[in-house]
Amino acid sequence: MMLKPIDTSRPHPARMYDYYLGGKDSYPVDEEAAEQVISFLPAIRIAARTNRSFMNRAARLLADRGVTQFLDIGTGIPTEPNLHQVVQAVNPESRVVYVDNDPVVLRHAEALLRSAREGATKYIEADVREPEKIIEGAKEILNFKEPVALSLVAILHFVSDEYGPYELVNDLLAPLSSGSFLMLSHVTGDFDAVGWAKAVEIYRKSGVPAQVRSREEVAQFFTGLDLLEPGVQIVTDWHPEPGLEFADEQVPLYVGVARKP
Ligand code: SAH
Repeated sequence: MMLKPIDTSRPHPARMYDYYLGGKDSYPVDEEAAEQVISFLPAIRIAARTNRSFMNRAARLLADRGVTQFLDIGTGIPTEPNLHQVVQAVNPESRVVYVDNDPVVLRHAEALLRSAREGATKYIEADVREPEKIIEGAKEILNFKEPVALSLVAILHFVSDEYGPYELVNDLLAPLSSGSFLMLSHVTGDFDAVGWAKAVEIYRKSGVPAQVRSREEVAQFFTGLDLLEPGVQIVTDWHPEPGLEFADEQVPLYVGVARKP
């Protein structure tokens, strides 16, 4: 397989997120940008950790409800447990398609492809702004006649309004059957507009079209879907987990899970 070269001349969001999580897969250029963000948003590491734990809770909840097919876009550098490990622990036959546009994630994809024997995983290198390519690739292992959980966890804040994020989500949901789900998390500037404006600037300078959104704007991604309880919430208020209690400004992410009627 031809591997795209890793660009170490500018920071990448997957590598910055890995750094916030305490991972080892970043380069000096990422660490420098991440440290800049940390300097005015010191809680970003907590935010990253609580976001990752939302991914776990939401995936497990959907697996418990009987969902066995997952399409995870903006997967990130593998961080155990990865989504397939969470859902295959509930049902080993679960099938997971991972998608990311960062060549670093592709290099680590073998960790995502160690599926349970009964299930399957697949990795697609694609941009969330290419819904057709993603759906075509996903069809190789997912049966679109059965429900699929679309996971957009901490990715839509890298799609600014000029790219039509609401239309993109619609395009991704349209081919999914009734009974499918959308799980998503999204950073907000609602509790610290100044800090997040600076953070957005750092991402934009490295070519990533970042944008934070208000609660209402995040809720709009669920238009036409039936939100599961407790609706769109701050990440730590969604099926709260003991030990993960923080002030809102420390965990500035809105999350939600909804069912396609
Ligand atoms: N979903 C994981 C990782 C979030 S980090 C988690 O919540 O733990 C955001 C990820 O989105 C990164 O891996 C980054 O490479 C990816 N990403 C950012 N913009 C993207 C785009 N336009 N298309 C596909 N992936 C993108």
